[in-house]
Amino acid sequence: MVFTWTAHRFSGGALALDVANSVILRFDPARRVDRFADVPALDAFAGAANRFCAEAPRFGALLPVAERNRARLLTLRETTDRHFRALTRDEQRPELLADLLEVIAAVLRGNGKDGSALDTATAHSALGLAANPEPDRLKICPNCGWLFLDRSRNRSRTWCDMAVCGNRSKAKRHYHRSKEEVQG
Ligand SMILES: [Zn+2]
Repeated sequence: MVFTWTAHRFSGGALALDVANSVILRFDPARRVDRFADVPALDAFAGAANRFCAEAPRFGALLPVAERNRARLLTLRETTDRHFRALTRDEQRPELLADLLEVIAAVLRGNGKDGSALDTATAHSALGLAANPEPDRLKICPNCGWLFLDRSRNRSRTWCDMAVCGNRSKAKRHYHRSKEEVQG
């Protein structure tokens, strides 16, 4: 089956979180999938983000990350995930924020005015979230492990995407240990 980026895969509510969510089931080493490990999928992410990412209009037309900057994007992704995941647990981990800010600085320094590149835009997105954290809106989907911003008025969202993870979780309760997999 050919992998495609769908609207579901942009449930994070911010570009930096959607990038972090390119790893599915982080908490389960046996089943985790890194969608950016596949270079064509990584290159296709920017175009899909233009269509589906809630924050994309802020950045204009996003372009794929340059080959020489791919490794740094992955470092940015991992430091983003570690910092914001710790934030959901209300952990005081200033070193994680420092790590994230260092990578953001490196991306911005390296890319200069190339603001439409995926890595530059992701750095700006992560910086915005880090500067104005919303810990009561930042959540982790209990089904797939993705980070997302709960923008609902009463902050009642449980799932990254009710139509996918909510339904799968219901199905799991009914058909325990069925073959259903998280849509990664
Ligand atoms: Zn989910």
